[in-house]
Amino acid sequence: MPIKVAAGIDIGGTNTKFGLVDRQGNTLTSDKLKTAQFADQNFAQYMEAIHESIDSLLKNYTSPLELIGLGFGAPNGNFHTGTIEYAPNLPWKDIHSIKQEMQKHYDLPIIVTNDANAAALGEMKFGGAKKMKDFVMLTLGTGLGSGIIANGQLIYGHDGFAGEIGHSSFILDGRQCNCGNKGCFEAYVSSIGILHTAREMIDNYDGQTKLASIDSKELSVKHIHYAAKEGDQLAIEIFKNTGRSLGIKMAEIVSYLSPEAIFLFGGITKAWDFLYPHIEGELNQRVMKVFKNKVKVLASELSEQNAAILGASALVW
Ligand SMILES: [Zn+2]
Repeated sequence: MPIKVAAGIDIGGTNTKFGLVDRQGNTLTSDKLKTAQFADQNFAQYMEAIHESIDSLLKNYTSPLELIGLGFGAPNGNFHTGTIEYAPNLPWKDIHSIKQEMQKHYDLPIIVTNDANAAALGEMKFGGAKKMKDFVMLTLGTGLGSGIIANGQLIYGHDGFAGEIGHSSFILDGRQCNCGNKGCFEAYVSSIGILHTAREMIDNYDGQTKLASIDSKELSVKHIHYAAKEGDQLAIEIFKNTGRSLGIKMAEIVSYLSPEAIFLFGGITKAWDFLYPHIEGELNQRVMKVFKNKVKVLASELSEQNAAILGASALVW
């Protein structure tokens, strides 16, 4: 009997990662392509290359495998239409159909959604949300993505793009955001946003901080975390600021959705001890009495390496 597997494909601006995942959430085999390598080719050629790579994973695995479907996590992926639409970080602009291209090769379910939605499904299927029906996933990377699960279902919304919490407003007349708007949450809480805040705080700081000696273009969240661990007060303040900002936005999320938990995913969760007390403090101070001390704030249980592939495969499973 061949082992049944779903293909999980994570389309990112830098890499396209893909793997074959069994029903228990084991990634049996995986590989990646450099997305930018296809920049001067058309979208159909890029899809063809993904198809060929998946085929070779299937053929070269040590035991026989049976592919049951393909799940794609992609920036601005539309679940309803199977397309990616105006993705800012990909070489192909406008609207392109993953579903149409892949149907040339497979007579199987082909499911598309954005990467944060895929991460939420991955958490529900294989991670810390296995028994939950109402939770929200916030993915902190270059930007801030989110996926909303309500009544056990991922919320896609009328147009297929529901759950853009990163582009909900945070500060009146605030920082310029990549989406064209000003003051979006993502402009403050994402790696780019946190570093923007950090540079401002370093410039205005009167005390001694190790962070002042790092070239501001080189500064990373990792640097801030190292400094915080060594007791650098400004680094600790930067995480406090980020944690409070997350708590404020989470209180808003709770008032809309009353989730059981809010998950955080991304490298930032390594600084959990510096963030969590401020997230929780701000959240519980701001929510209505009926929600106080009820909503769990948790770090994702999916490993950063595999989460995108697992999440995309969970679309099929
Ligand atoms: Zn925005």
